[in-house]
Amino acid sequence: MKEYSLYINGRFEKAALSREIINPSSGEAIARVSMADAGTVDYAIRSAREAYDKGPWRNFSLDKRRDLILELSEKLLGKARELAEVESLNSGKPIKETTFMDIPSSAQTFRHFAENLKFYLEPETIEIKSQAGRAKADLIHGGRGVVGLIVPWNYPLLIASWKMAQALSAGNTVVLKPSTSTPLSALELAEIVDELDFPKGVVNIITGKGDEAGKTICTNKYVDMVSFTGSNEVGKRIMGYASESIKKLIMELGGKSASIVLEDSDLDLAVNGSLCSIFLNQGQMCTATSRILVSDKIYDEFRDKFTQRAKSIKLGQAMDFQTQMGPLMSEAQRRRVLSFIDKARREGLKILCGGKIPESPALKKGFFFEPTVIEGKGAESFLFREEIFGPVAVIDKFSGIGEAVSLANDSDFALAGCIWSKDKDKAANLAKDICAGTVWINTYGMFFNELSYGGFKQSGFGKELGKQGFLEYTSLKNVITDQTQNGKSLVNYWYGF
Ligand code: NAD
Repeated sequence: MKEYSLYINGRFEKAALSREIINPSSGEAIARVSMADAGTVDYAIRSAREAYDKGPWRNFSLDKRRDLILELSEKLLGKARELAEVESLNSGKPIKETTFMDIPSSAQTFRHFAENLKFYLEPETIEIKSQAGRAKADLIHGGRGVVGLIVPWNYPLLIASWKMAQALSAGNTVVLKPSTSTPLSALELAEIVDELDFPKGVVNIITGKGDEAGKTICTNKYVDMVSFTGSNEVGKRIMGYASESIKKLIMELGGKSASIVLEDSDLDLAVNGSLCSIFLNQGQMCTATSRILVSDKIYDEFRDKFTQRAKSIKLGQAMDFQTQMGPLMSEAQRRRVLSFIDKARREGLKILCGGKIPESPALKKGFFFEPTVIEGKGAESFLFREEIFGPVAVIDKFSGIGEAVSLANDSDFALAGCIWSKDKDKAANLAKDICAGTVWINTYGMFFNELSYGGFKQSGFGKELGKQGFLEYTSLKNVITDQTQNGKSLVNYWYGF
C-alpha cells in the first residue's frame, strides 16, 4: 500500500498522524496519507509566504513562468493513465470519465492559463483629463500573495488544477488542501511538481482534517486569499474564519439546478442529456440538474422514457471501462442519500425507480446506490429544495413558460441550468430569465477554460476560469502619474508657494 507524505517547501514530509484511504468500489484501504496538524500547516504557509515575498519566483519573467507551467501540463499528460486510475480508485468515478474528462481537462487548464497569462496580465494605460488635471494611469495586475486552495472530493484533481493553474499563472504561491477522502491525485500532482524547477515553497500540498488543516489556512493572517469549493455549511464557516484578517475569497458552493424540457424538445436528446446531468459521477456534481421540469404536454412520455433509461444504467466497479455509474464516494455519502429517500417515502412521494442499494453480489462491498427517479409534488417538497449530491432526480411538470421560469428560479441556489428545445431563439430568450451562472441549451456540462464559471445566491460568489476567473487571483494596482500641462500638479496649488 503506497504511503504519501505532505509536500512542503519543496520537500516531502511525513506527519506524525496518518489516515487510510478507502476505495469506494470495494470498501478496502488502498493507501495511507499523512495528516498535517495546525503547526505543520503554519509551516507550509510560512514557506509559501517566504517564497512569495523573498524567493526567486517573483522575479521570474512571464515567459519563464509560462514555460514552467506548460511543463507541468505536459508531465501531467505524460502520467495521464496512472492518474486516471488513481482518481477512479480513490473517488469511485468511472475510469471512462477520469480517462477522457478529468485528467486531460486538468492538463488542458494548466496549458490554457500558461499560454494566456501574458495576455490576461497585459497592463492597461488610461489617459485621464478632468477638472483635477491630467494624468496617466497604468493599471497593473500583480499576484495576490499566498493563496489557500481548498477543494472537495467530487472532482479532486480537476478542481485542484483549475485553482492551481490560475493561482500560479497569476504569480502567487499556493497551499493546496485536497479533501480528506480523495487526496491521492493531488499528492500525485505533488510528485510531478517536485520533478520541475519550481522554487521551493511556491507549491505546497498538504492533507489534513478540514476543521484543523483547512481552518488553519483560513485563519492564518499570512494567507491573502482563499479559493474554496465545497459545501455551504463549510463555506459559511470559512467566511467567518477569513473575516478575521479580511481575506479575499472565492466561494464555489452548492446547487439545486433545474433542467427545463419544453414541449418542442428533441425528446431523445432531452432524455439522454438529462440522464447525463443527474447521473454522471453518480450525481455528485455541484451543477447536477437534480430538478427536471417537463412541459405537461410531454410529461408522461418523458417520465416513462427517462425512468426506463435510468433503470438500464450499468452500475459497476469504477475501474471497469463498461461502467456507467460507479459507487458513491463514501459510506457516509450513501447514508446521506438514503436519508433523503426515507424522507421522500415518508412524504408519500412516488419513487419511479431505484431508491435503494443494489442487490447484486458483485456490488455488495462498495458504496453503490441505484439511479433513482422520484416524481415531485411541487416546489414545497424538501426534495425540490435541498442538495442531495447523489443519483436522485426529481421530476415535475409545468404548464407554461412562465411557470417553468418561476419553478426553476424558486431556489436558494443559482449555479446552473439546462433548457431543451428545438427552437433555439425561444430557448435563448428563456435562458435570460433563468437565474444561474451557467445555462446550457440542448447540452450539459460543457466547461471551457475560456469561460468564467460560478454561481449566484447561495451557490457562492467569485468566478473560476476565463479572464474574469483568472483576474480573481490577481490584485489590480493603479499607478497614477501627473501629466498636468506646464508641469504644475494639482497638489501644488494647495500648499505650493
Ligand atoms: P466540504 O465542504 O465538506 O469539503 C470541502 C473541503 O473543505 C474539503 O477539503 C474539506 O476538508 C474542507 N473543510 C472541511 N471543513 C473545513 C473547515 N472547517 N475549514 C476549512 N476547510 C474545511 O465539501 P465536499 O463534501 O467535499 O464536497 C461536496 C460539496 O461541494 C457539495 O455541496 C457541492 O455542491 C460542492 N461543490 C461545489 C462546486 C462549485 O463549483 N460550486 C463544485 C464541486 C463541489
